[in-house]
Amino acid sequence: MYDTIIIGGGPAGSAAGIYAARKKLNTLLVAENIGGQILKTWEIENYPGFLEETGASLGEKFTTHLNKFKVEIKNEIAINVNKINSSCFQVRTKKNQYESKTLILAMGKTSRPLNARGEEKFRGAGVTYCATCDGPLFANKIVAVVGGGNAGLETAIQMEKIAARVYLLEKGKECQGDPLLLENVQNQPKTKIMLDTEIIEIYGENFVQGVKIKNSQARKTQDLKLDGVFVEIGSVPNTALTKNMVRLDAENRIKIDKWNATSAEGIFACGDATDIPYNQIVIAAGEGAKAAISAFNYLAKTTSDNERN
Ligand SMILES: Cc1cc2nc3c(=O)[nH]c(=O)nc-3n(C[C@H](O)[C@H](O)[C@H](O)COP(=O)(O)OP(=O)(O)OC[C@H]3O[C@@H](n4cnc5c(N)ncnc54)[C@H](O)[C@@H]3O)c2cc1C
Repeated sequence: MYDTIIIGGGPAGSAAGIYAARKKLNTLLVAENIGGQILKTWEIENYPGFLEETGASLGEKFTTHLNKFKVEIKNEIAINVNKINSSCFQVRTKKNQYESKTLILAMGKTSRPLNARGEEKFRGAGVTYCATCDGPLFANKIVAVVGGGNAGLETAIQMEKIAARVYLLEKGKECQGDPLLLENVQNQPKTKIMLDTEIIEIYGENFVQGVKIKNSQARKTQDLKLDGVFVEIGSVPNTALTKNMVRLDAENRIKIDKWNATSAEGIFACGDATDIPYNQIVIAAGEGAKAAISAFNYLAKTTSDNERN
């Protein structure tokens, strides 16, 4: 039986793997891929020590680092997790099943897609889901921000300083974000707010060149020539797998305390799948490290308690 099974190989799960292995925990990392969301970005400029790095190459470095500490990695998708008894969890994948004394949940999240034609094709080639990360890459370009909630408004404010022109597209009759943020956006000289408007197609060759938009009031479609589309219509944490085992918040994120403990004994969680604020690589990695240390401390305590009894 493993001391810990980590589910997820993004920055949180990878950091947890490295820390757990260096604490000499018998560790298994079950992950669909190593890298997680970073594999979707082409340039990372805000991870300390890496001045300019592609997501793919940082993901490869995570793998090298995990291999250095001999973390056992299974490139599989966990489809079921069960608690067998107070000190045994079972993780099932399509191919195998594994058992451990503790679990570290690091399944991250997935951006809610627009479901517009062309969106998949131009992911990472003009279509982005992270303004904090990718905004600077669109300096002096024309961009659309989709979504009139707080995330969309904040992105429009951020892009006003960077881009040549910003279209804020909101499907509904009004923007739902904070009035103060909205007022700021309304006063931005380079930003145009377009209500009742949704993207029905994103087109281009190798990179985005424009979008077809539809106005539900005027019932007409129109072309907007632009270079980038920022999708800010929310994200979905990948927490369905363990929703019956650990407490979630209203947005389906795993609730954790400052030690990364979940509501269930022996289960720790980290990164974007949890209710911590600010979804960034450096934060997820730090949270992964914390979760592994907490799992180590938990195992040390339960082992000594068992020896005493
Ligand atoms: C396009 C884009 C660009 C970004 N750019 C930056 C940037 O430049 N700088 C920055 O700081 N942040 C950036 N971010 C945010 C950053 O990538 C995330 O905050 C970070 O990756 C979160 O790490 P995580 O490990 O918590 O989750 P994730 O990265 O989401 O990783 C989750 C992992 O869990 C795996 N997984 C999920 N479910 C299962 C399952 N059932 N079984 C097995 N494996 C599973 C996934 O395959 C993945 O390996 C960007 C995000 C996006 C989408």
